[in-house]
Formats: sequence, structure tokens, C-alpha cells
Amino acid sequence: MEDHREARKTYGSDRAQLAYGLRPDGTLAHITEVQRGLACGCICPACDGKLVARTKDDHQVPHFAHNSGEACGGGPETVLHLLAKEAFRANPKMLLPERPALDERKVVTKPGQEVETEFLRLEYTDPKKIIPDLYVRALGYDLFVEIAVTHFSDEAKIQLLREHRIPAVEVDLSRLPRDSTREAIADAVLRTAPRHWLYHPGIDAAEAKRRADEQKWQAEIEKRQANAQARHARRVNELVHAYRTAPSHTMMDEAPRLAELQTVGLGEHVGITVAGVGCFAVPPAVWQTRILTEVFHDRCLGNGVCKAVPITQHLEKAGVIRSPFHRVSGAVANDAATVEPNFAPPWKAVDAYLKHLAGAGVLVSHGYGMALASKFAEPWKARTLAEKRRTDVMQAAVQTVDWILAQLPGDERGTMTGDSWLNTIHAESGMTYRAALQADLEVPKIAGEIDAIVDMLEKRGPLPQGAVGLPIGAAIERRKAQMAKQADELRAKRMEEAKRLRLSRHDRLCVDAEKELSGPDLGNFLNTKRDDLSGMTPLESAQDSETGLNRARNVLFDLVRQRAREAEADAERKRYQEKITADAKRSLPPEHADTFLNGRDDDLGRTTPLLFAKDDSTYRKALKKLSEWQREFGQPF
Ligand SMILES: [Zn+2]
Repeated sequence: MEDHREARKTYGSDRAQLAYGLRPDGTLAHITEVQRGLACGCICPACDGKLVARTKDDHQVPHFAHNSGEACGGGPETVLHLLAKEAFRANPKMLLPERPALDERKVVTKPGQEVETEFLRLEYTDPKKIIPDLYVRALGYDLFVEIAVTHFSDEAKIQLLREHRIPAVEVDLSRLPRDSTREAIADAVLRTAPRHWLYHPGIDAAEAKRRADEQKWQAEIEKRQANAQARHARRVNELVHAYRTAPSHTMMDEAPRLAELQTVGLGEHVGITVAGVGCFAVPPAVWQTRILTEVFHDRCLGNGVCKAVPITQHLEKAGVIRSPFHRVSGAVANDAATVEPNFAPPWKAVDAYLKHLAGAGVLVSHGYGMALASKFAEPWKARTLAEKRRTDVMQAAVQTVDWILAQLPGDERGTMTGDSWLNTIHAESGMTYRAALQADLEVPKIAGEIDAIVDMLEKRGPLPQGAVGLPIGAAIERRKAQMAKQADELRAKRMEEAKRLRLSRHDRLCVDAEKELSGPDLGNFLNTKRDDLSGMTPLESAQDSETGLNRARNVLFDLVRQRAREAEADAERKRYQEKITADAKRSLPPEHADTFLNGRDDDLGRTTPLLFAKDDSTYRKALKKLSEWQREFGQPF
């Protein structure tokens, strides 16, 4: 409506000039098409008053004026109406506006489309008093077209159209200048001016469908809400009922690790009554012990945050929360608590317990959750480590004892096992082995004895000192016999080896001797006892030891070297004998030469020159003697 008022202000009848007049034949004449003054012969299309054509040059814009001097004001609007209707006489194409429509039971928007129109009547009147501006046919259907300039169709009119079931489009020309040309008006009314459906059965059907869908959806929502509320109420009732009828806890339920808590001073911090304890299948002492031991000491949540909800999930998995109280939502819990004041969901009970622990200094804030205060955490951790070490020692001992027993024949082992061995008495302490190991008593000694038994059974090491209460007497006897047998075998082996070495040394000496000696020399050398070999023959010395072999070899090599020297001296002596013999035969007559050579001579040490001449100096002495002989018996040559 704001638009319309604005349009009336701009194009209002009192301001617009009248550019068309109505000819006597009922057609419209533009101011440019008529004679000046009353001669124009036109009347006002609105009030039928006579018009004067004002076309003089001194007038700014040519226009029609009422001859009576007072404008009725309706002229320009009526002209617009008439020209708009006139545009349809030529059966033009017209743009129909878009509209909602049903397409396979879905509401869609049917886009605007241009359609051929067939002009039927300017005015239409029926018994139901519908008077449309225009009545045309389009796409084979009847269609009303309303031209709105200042007056728009009201609800009463739309209701009439609906009753008549003829589609109607309203074209809004309120913004069109009143003095527009015929062409501009035709273009506006057929295509460009705003338009909308006043009525179309398809719109009503789509609208009805949309309303039906909406109602259905609304009904669905309401139903869901009602269901949710009913479920909620039922859940609240169930919770309250389950809580009120939960069996009370019995003292039979013992917390398995309560003793552990007591040793680290936390025993007084479990068994705390908080709202919601009835949600648990076990007494407060039990689930609270689980929280302290499993969550805060064992860190079973890993790197998870230690706060109420994850802890509650852990307890739920561990089966200590009664099933009706699994995953209770906050809203249900709140409503249940208003009905049953003692009720709280498990996570709130856990939260209340954590708060109690924090208040008592057992827990401290840690990151987003809580952690055990170090004055409890550290000694507890140390205690657990020591306990684990003792357990490891005991397990290792049991395993080893089981192994030892498995090595024994069945009749020796009897019914003993590693576990039953733990319950036998450790003689030194008078306790069972289990108690002794747990008390950390003589653990290294017991472990050492067990290891020695293992060594014995694996056939190594000395015989064990103690039997740690195991039936190993026969095994020790077997091991003793075996060790004696091994010692005998070793001795025989060593003798065999010694024999082999003796033979080897004997052979090595023979090989060396055979390279240097032969014939009787060889046998004589090898089998003659010698003082420089401690009265043994070389063969005996070599057989005796490696040192004896070396000594015999040295004797052999000395002998060889001495013989070489002797041979060399013999050769030299022979060379000088030959020289002196040749000299004598050359210098003396043959009979004197022999005499000279073989005659003993005092000057030559009571020996003959032949025997005397052994080397250079004795040769020279013999030669000097030969010169004397030559002077006496020599013959001139
Ligand atoms: Zn008028």
C-alpha cells in the first residue's frame, strides 16, 4: 500500500496533464492529433465534460483542459485504463506471472511465461457480479486481466473470482506516468509492469498442499515431542523406581585391594557415603577402592583425563554400576532427583566422591582432571615396585623349579610342582619358601642354589651345595658318576694324545736325521746314548718332549757341522799333500822324492813331509825342507 500511495503522489490526477481526449466515436485522440481549442471535439474520458485543446506556443506542454475551467482530476487515470485495455485488441502476447504449483505432489514454483492471448470482451458481466477489466483466452482457458492504477483488487473481489474459478492476473500500472505514450502503456501492461495472480486454481491447490504439509509436519513434531516427553517421564519413573527398590549392599562384598590402601594410609578414605550410592552394585568401599587403585594408582585410563565421567565409564565397564543407571542423561537425572532426593546419577556420585577426596587432600588438580597427591602416590608407587620385584622373583623361582622337576624321572619327582614347592619348609628360616621369598629372606642364596641345580642338570659346573628341598639326590649321584666317567675319558684321551705326540716327535727327528746321515751313521747317531742328552739316545730324547726333540736336533746339527769342518780340513790337507808331492817329484829324482816325502824328520815334528803339509804354513816349512833336499840331491836340469 505504501507503493500505491507513493504512486498517487507522483502521478496523481491533480498534477498530471491530460494528453488524450475521447472522440465522439469513442476512440482516444492524442493532443497532437486534434485541432486547437473547442474545435478538438473531445470530451473528458472521466467526467464527459467538454475539453479544450491547449496547443498554443506560449503553453509549455500541449494538453487538454476542461472547458468548464475546473479539472475533474480523473482524466489521466481513465486514459491509462482505456489505453491498457486497447493494447489487448490486437491479440498480443502477454507475460503471465510466476506462481506456486503442484508437481507430482510437491509444491514448486512455475515460472512466468509469455502466452498468446485472444481478446474476448472489454467488459464481462455475469450473474455473480464479477466485472473484470479484461476478459481474454490464453492457452485455451478463460483469463481475467485486472489493470490497477490507483484501485487494487480487494479480498471481496478475489473471493468472487475464486467462487467463479476463472484465473485472474492483476497488472500494476501505478508507477507508470499518466501521460505515457500508447506504446509505453502497451509494453507495460503486456510485459514490463509488475503483475501477480489474483486467483489461480493451481495456486489454491499448491497452497492447500503446503498447508497440509505444514500441518502434517507440525503434527509430527508435536508427536515426537510428546513421545520424547513420555520417554523422559518413563525413564525418570524407572530410575526412581529402580533406585528405591535397589537391594542394599551387604558386608560380604569385600574390596579386593583394601589392604593395599590401608598400607599406604588411604584406608579411611573409602566407604564414603554420597548421594547416588544406590546406583552401584557394590558398597561404596568397593567402588571407591577401585577408583583409588585402578584409576589413580594403576592409571587404567592411560592418558585419559581423571574426572567424573571417564571414571564412571570405567566403573560401568567393570560392571559395578547397576544397569538401570547406565548412561543417565543430565535432564533425566535432575527430574529423578526432584522426585527422589537421595538419587544422583553415578557420575554425580563419583564427582561427589572426588570432591570429598580433594577436600581431604588425597587428590589434587592435575591438568583438566585430578591426580593422587604425591605424599600418597610416591610411597604407594615404591611399595608396588617392591611388590612387583618380589612377585617376579617368586615367579622366576617357581618357573625354574618346574623346569628342574621336569628334568627328573617321574618316580623321583613324585607329585611335587613349582607351586607345591613354595609351600615346603626352608630349613634355615623355618618358613615356607613362599614366605621366605616374600619376606626377602636369603633370596640370593636360594636363587644361587636353584641356579647351581640347573647347571648340574645341564651338565656343567660343580655339584650343587644345597638341594633347596628338591628331590635331586639321585640326580646328584648320576652327575657324580658321569663326572668320574668324563674324567677317565679325559685321561685316556690325554694319554692317547701324548702317545701321538711322542710318535710325531720321533718321526720328525728321523726325517731330519735322514736328510743328513745315511747307512750305519744314521743308526749309530739315533741309538747311541749321549751325556749331552742326559744319558738318553737322540730318539729317546725326542720322544720325551718337545725340548728333548730340539736338543736332539741341535746335537744332530752340531755333528753335521763338525763333519763338514773335518771334510773341509781333509780336502785342504790333501791339496797341500798333492802340492808337496808334485813339488818333490819336480825337484828331486824319483827315488829321492819318495824318500823325502815319506821320511820322518825331526824338524817336522817327527813326521813325514807328506803328512806334515796340512796348510799354508806347514806347507811352507815342508817346502823349505824340500829346498835343503834339492840342494843336496837335486840334479841340474
Ligand atoms: Zn473530467
